[in-house]
Amino acid sequence: MSLEINIKKAHEYLEKFRTQGVMHRIDGQDVSSNDQFETKSPADHTALAQVSRGGASEIDQAAKSAKKAFADWSVVTGKARRDILHAVADGIVARAEEIAFIEAMDTGQTIRFMSKAAMRGAENFRFFADQAPFAADGKSLFTSTQMNVTSRTPIGPVGIITPWNTPFMLSTWKIAPALAAGCTVVHKPAELSPLSARLLIEIAENSGVPAGVWNMVNGFGEDAGRALTEHPDIKAIAFVGESRTGAMIMKQGADTLKRVHFELGGKNPIIVFKDADLERAADAAVFMIYSLNGERCTSSSRLLVEAEIYEDFTAIVAEKAAKITVGHPLDPAATIGPLIDPNHLQKVTSYFDIAQQEGATIATGGRTIDGPGGGCYVAPTLLTDATNDMRISQEEIFGPVLTALPFRTEAEAIAMANDVSYGLAGYLWTNDLKRGLRISDALEAGMIWVNSENNRHLPAPFGGTKNSGIGRDGGDWSFEFYMETKNVAFAMTDHKIPKLGG
Ligand code: NAD
Repeated sequence: MSLEINIKKAHEYLEKFRTQGVMHRIDGQDVSSNDQFETKSPADHTALAQVSRGGASEIDQAAKSAKKAFADWSVVTGKARRDILHAVADGIVARAEEIAFIEAMDTGQTIRFMSKAAMRGAENFRFFADQAPFAADGKSLFTSTQMNVTSRTPIGPVGIITPWNTPFMLSTWKIAPALAAGCTVVHKPAELSPLSARLLIEIAENSGVPAGVWNMVNGFGEDAGRALTEHPDIKAIAFVGESRTGAMIMKQGADTLKRVHFELGGKNPIIVFKDADLERAADAAVFMIYSLNGERCTSSSRLLVEAEIYEDFTAIVAEKAAKITVGHPLDPAATIGPLIDPNHLQKVTSYFDIAQQEGATIATGGRTIDGPGGGCYVAPTLLTDATNDMRISQEEIFGPVLTALPFRTEAEAIAMANDVSYGLAGYLWTNDLKRGLRISDALEAGMIWVNSENNRHLPAPFGGTKNSGIGRDGGDWSFEFYMETKNVAFAMTDHKIPKLGG
């Protein structure tokens, strides 16, 4: 398909948003606010839709709706929840093309990657659907005198707050386990890319999720987001976004003792030893920083290369990076699309100046590109001659910008990898098994991939350490967050009870 045909199709899909705007969805009803904001396409900065800007009052309505619905949804059998969530997955697959086109236009992510967004979202629903019948299961723990039996119950209505980078996939990843556990949801999507969240809730309701079980309120972090984190009926907040926002949410949730789950930023190292399969390592390094516009929490944004091969390896990476096609998000030939908005462009490009001031070299990229529609296009960039104390090595840039650093010894590689405030992911390339085991054990990160790019297995835990997060998703870890564990202890003998007061 050509770019022209894709743009025409995208506008057909977007027409309903353009004419009707985007309203909140509360208790199965459209609810609008007097205040509105525009969501603009990163492709050409044109307004895609007017979006209702919710605040404390809309959040209160949504939280009350979720509380009311919790009474019924929490006692729906696991098998019935499983069937409904599979129906949601079917509904997502049926609208895969629409989701892909809308997500690409609203986020600037290229269709090359967004064409898989629906499948990935459906997979999240199917995975947690299949776990739903077992979510309440617990353990039995015996002593000779006592039998302890544990069970789990859903914690209550939960708030889910998502970022703008890959909103469809992330929303499914957070909401599916909450519903499978028996929780009800108030979702607050990111203000910069709210459209696919609206499609998702429509699909869910059409697939049998009862009114009020899933509510969605649009708005900004400081009003709708804040109100959600402070609401007394909301028992937990699952948040994906920046580390400093996570810190704010923790403070905001303190008075109501919110349980929090944070998936935050990263400055993830990819460590390459000279004994590795260097062609595969180079492909993985390039994929993990330049896919999804580099707007990816698990991007491998620091390339640590053994000194002896540093020059050659970085030259290969630079050559590959320079050949990556930057273009319109709907162009089937484009890999990198426009960054989300001019503010983010300003942030990302400021690191080109910072790199030069710090004494690093721009090996490739380091410039904006005049692309179709006038979007915020940035050339894939590699920064070399860096040291680990530079800001380009320490701060999350969240764009297609890779900082390369040489190391001489295994100990130095580990020290550099760990010497950042983040600890989300780490990537290691070596064919030395013992070294692989040593380093993966020493790296301070929640997820390590050895001789692999970020290849997900949904039952495996996902999450970060240090400033990259609190808690884990995936498998049973998601249920640990969305559920309360209860222990019941049965006496099996007439043990001695202390007699007080006679
Ligand atoms: P952000 O923190 O600015 O915003 C995320 C969400 O939080 C938005 O919906 C926003 O409206 C809301 N928000 C902002 N302030 C709030 C407040 N005071 N109270 C409640 N909600 C508030 O993040 P972003 O710029 O949208 O996303 C990019 C960040 O997300 C990057 O740091 C990236 O690494 C991170 N991220 C992490 C993961 C992960 O799994 N670890 C995945 C994707 C993105």
